[in-house]
Amino acid sequence: MAKIVILGGGYAGMMAATHLEQLGESFTLVNAHEYHYLTTLLHEAAGGRSDVHNYCIPIRDILTKRTSELVVDKVKTINRENRTVTLENGELSYDYLVYAIGWVPEFFGIPGLAEYSLGIRDLESAKEIRQHIEERFKKYKETQDSRDLRIVVGGAGLTGIELLGELMEFLPQLCQQLDIDFSLVDVQCIEAMPSILPQVAPPLRDVAAKTLTDKGAKLRIGIKILKVEPNKVILEGADPVEASTIIWTGGVRANPLLQELGFTCDRRGRAKVTPYLQSVDDERIFIGGDSAWCDDEQGRPLPPTAQVATQMGTTIAKNLHALVHGHKEEMKSFRPSLKGTLASLGREVGVGDMGGIPVRGMVASLAKEATKVKYLWELGGMRLTAEKTQQVVQL
Ligand SMILES: Cc1cc2nc3c(=O)[nH]c(=O)nc-3n(C[C@H](O)[C@H](O)[C@H](O)COP(=O)(O)OP(=O)(O)OC[C@H]3O[C@@H](n4cnc5c(N)ncnc54)[C@H](O)[C@@H]3O)c2cc1C
Repeated sequence: MAKIVILGGGYAGMMAATHLEQLGESFTLVNAHEYHYLTTLLHEAAGGRSDVHNYCIPIRDILTKRTSELVVDKVKTINRENRTVTLENGELSYDYLVYAIGWVPEFFGIPGLAEYSLGIRDLESAKEIRQHIEERFKKYKETQDSRDLRIVVGGAGLTGIELLGELMEFLPQLCQQLDIDFSLVDVQCIEAMPSILPQVAPPLRDVAAKTLTDKGAKLRIGIKILKVEPNKVILEGADPVEASTIIWTGGVRANPLLQELGFTCDRRGRAKVTPYLQSVDDERIFIGGDSAWCDDEQGRPLPPTAQVATQMGTTIAKNLHALVHGHKEEMKSFRPSLKGTLASLGREVGVGDMGGIPVRGMVASLAKEATKVKYLWELGGMRLTAEKTQQVVQL
């Protein structure tokens, strides 16, 4: 029997795993944690909407057939000639590999940014943001140092804007708890590009901007971060900002391993795949999610989203199943069905588009909740959805 190894238990990896399980395939799944976390909700965890544990699901609760093995470890490198994967604590051999270890932050070479900023990368880092803000606000009570109440969010894309939406609901509550005057809190979002949320239509960007500024956030658009020092952000053409909390959300790229291993990569470090989602450099390696450089029918690279990653995972499982059983001719080209982008702006409102129809306010927020339920359903059917909806989705 062919040895299948899946690297990464995120959106692409888990979707590939659940479909392979349904197709009767055995495999080994390697993931850095024993749980799958909902990356698209990490801003909620960081902004304190709910406990971080509500945003993860034990992988063993998803893969219930027990025909597969879960290895909790970190991938260090891959040897394509010997077909082995070196982990931090061991080595695995494979006949076919699914590579889906996701993304890392893109710092664009800005000095000090990696060292002196927080980021939403995984559950731990989301928790760290929440704890850090709580600590700084408590510290303010002792020191009255205004920097402890200043938060800089770098980047006004989907992640930055969703995080701001959460913070602008969380911070007034925190101030109330700690008896701090909320008007002293200064939240600044700094973005080098000329607008926020490039993923949505311009009128919706204005709605998002108004929602956030009405709640007290400052959107500083078209301003470049030149350098970050401890508790200080140096800007182009504007005064430096001194803040005890600096959070970077401004970009992602694929894990550098792909470039180090000589795969054909784009400028975001994503490895080029065939229409069947196999690496153009190695047909035994399927690549999914934010690690894959895959063009749409117009030849434009697909965006790094969970929506694309889950659909890739499903296609990879079906193509891999066909390949290992000698039915290469049954492999199907990946045809993504893009259903739009939704950005939450806190618990109850959002903006976005659904299949080209602009939505805002509570409709957008409910639509976003519905995408989470749909995802849980795809991942684990009625059992997992029923079990996790109240806990994870908090409808
Ligand atoms: C705050 C936030 C909000 C977002 N909102 C949306 C949204 O609304 N809609 C949308 O479509 N997309 C959204 N995205 C983007 C989306 O989350 C990503 O595109 C998606 O997670 C990519 O899926 P993936 O499977 O490639 O990687 P991931 O989901 O990141 O999974 C990678 C997995 O690999 C594991 N891993 C990483 N490195 C290693 C290693 N060395 N060894 C072993 N395991 C490893 C990780 O722990 C993780 O389990 C958002 C992202 C963020 C950060």
